[in-house]
Amino acid sequence: MSVFNDLPDVAATREAALARLQAFLPHAGERYTDWRNHDFGPAGDNAVSVLSPWLRHRLISEQEVVAQVMANHGLEAAEKYIQEVCWRSYWKGYLERRPVHWPEYQQQCRKDREAMAKDRHLAMRLEQALSAQTGIACFDGWVDELITHGYLHNHARMWFASIWVFTLELPWALGADFFLRHLLDGDPASNTLSWRWVAGLHTQGKAYLARPDNITRFTQGRFPRANGLADKADLPASLEKPPLQDAPAATPWRRDNQTGLLITEDDLTPEAIFGDDPWPFVTAIQTTDWRSDSPVSQAAEAFARAGLADALARNTATEQSAPFHYRQNADATALCTAIASAGITTLLTPWIPTGPGKDAINALMPQLAEAGITLQPVPRDWDVQLWPAATHGFFRFWKAARPLLEDGSLT
Ligand SMILES: Cc1cc2nc3c(=O)[nH]c(=O)nc-3n(C[C@H](O)[C@H](O)[C@H](O)COP(=O)(O)OP(=O)(O)OC[C@H]3O[C@@H](n4cnc5c(N)ncnc54)[C@H](O)[C@@H]3O)c2cc1C
Repeated sequence: MSVFNDLPDVAATREAALARLQAFLPHAGERYTDWRNHDFGPAGDNAVSVLSPWLRHRLISEQEVVAQVMANHGLEAAEKYIQEVCWRSYWKGYLERRPVHWPEYQQQCRKDREAMAKDRHLAMRLEQALSAQTGIACFDGWVDELITHGYLHNHARMWFASIWVFTLELPWALGADFFLRHLLDGDPASNTLSWRWVAGLHTQGKAYLARPDNITRFTQGRFPRANGLADKADLPASLEKPPLQDAPAATPWRRDNQTGLLITEDDLTPEAIFGDDPWPFVTAIQTTDWRSDSPVSQAAEAFARAGLADALARNTATEQSAPFHYRQNADATALCTAIASAGITTLLTPWIPTGPGKDAINALMPQLAEAGITLQPVPRDWDVQLWPAATHGFFRFWKAARPLLEDGSLT
């Protein structure tokens, strides 16, 4: 089964997400365990689920995916797959607990762009990488694949990031920015922290080095051998760990006729928290543009936009206006006035995690406050239970998560 050669022409709907999960379910056990690291390319028979664009926007949730996989295979037989889904929860929790990594990354992108403006050779090397002209066939192939499909296999992401940092010696943050602008699943936590991990900034003394033999083996020799890759990584002498912040606690909420629903692209199934009763007042805000100071791909914007429209249609009782496309520096006064004119004083919203969505909503807060509107974000149970454990490495996190899966508290 190859499920990902139809990206990005896929429906950003909950229905499509559920259908994709059903198609993948029989393969979540042995086949995934044995073949998940092989990348046969966009037209190949890959064993991975390609659920990431839907999971990233929560058109389907980690909890739903894990519950169904466990019901079909059991925890042990599908442990590899379930662990991978939990990597997502780990990164999300890790960034929530150390949110400073996000503004630091944004700052780093700006500094790197300034450096590019002053260093012609560096700028040229960056341009070669972004236009698939490095002469490293596999890398150039992945650049094309990322731009065309809005997706890369996990192993390709690891090789790509490693070659970017250690062979091409380009700034890691600009590589992360390139991914975030093109991936349909572009996620501030999984992306930023995975790039940091590859570059040796996450685990003391560890980085990820792409090896030519490993690439040949796991791509079935689709590319000429990648000779000349860096064979060592320069690592920082020590890593500073920022202080830990609290994870969000379970939040009680109440709905009355002055309460509206706010939908953001970080959680497109708000009914999982607030119930299936349609809302008289819903507003949906698109914030994809806040992923970067450089343009975000049309495919990534279109996926988020269609997902927001799908979430709106599922949750509204009356005809509602289309999602509000909130670009950086846009004026949202009319939106806030419209909310207030509808008699809404509180907007309930699924939790908006650290990243572009939160940056956008933070920028909107003064105008909301001026219009007399309070925002109340409500985290999901899954996150409330798991994020407190995202303090150190993944395996410590997994040690806390597995018993919760075994005793059914999470699913
Ligand atoms: C440099 C780099 C950048 C990345 N950027 C992103 C990103 O922006 N958004 C994103 O969702 N993932 C990112 N990942 C993680 C991972 O590569 C993708 O989640 C995965 O490839 C998606 O494909 P899939 O749905 O077929 O995964 P499957 O193997 O089928 O896994 C199922 C689900 O588990 C989660 N998952 C699997 N592996 C990981 C992982 N290593 N880290 C976090 N979650 C995981 C995803 O939600 C995925 O959909 C990145 C990894 C690297 C190395």
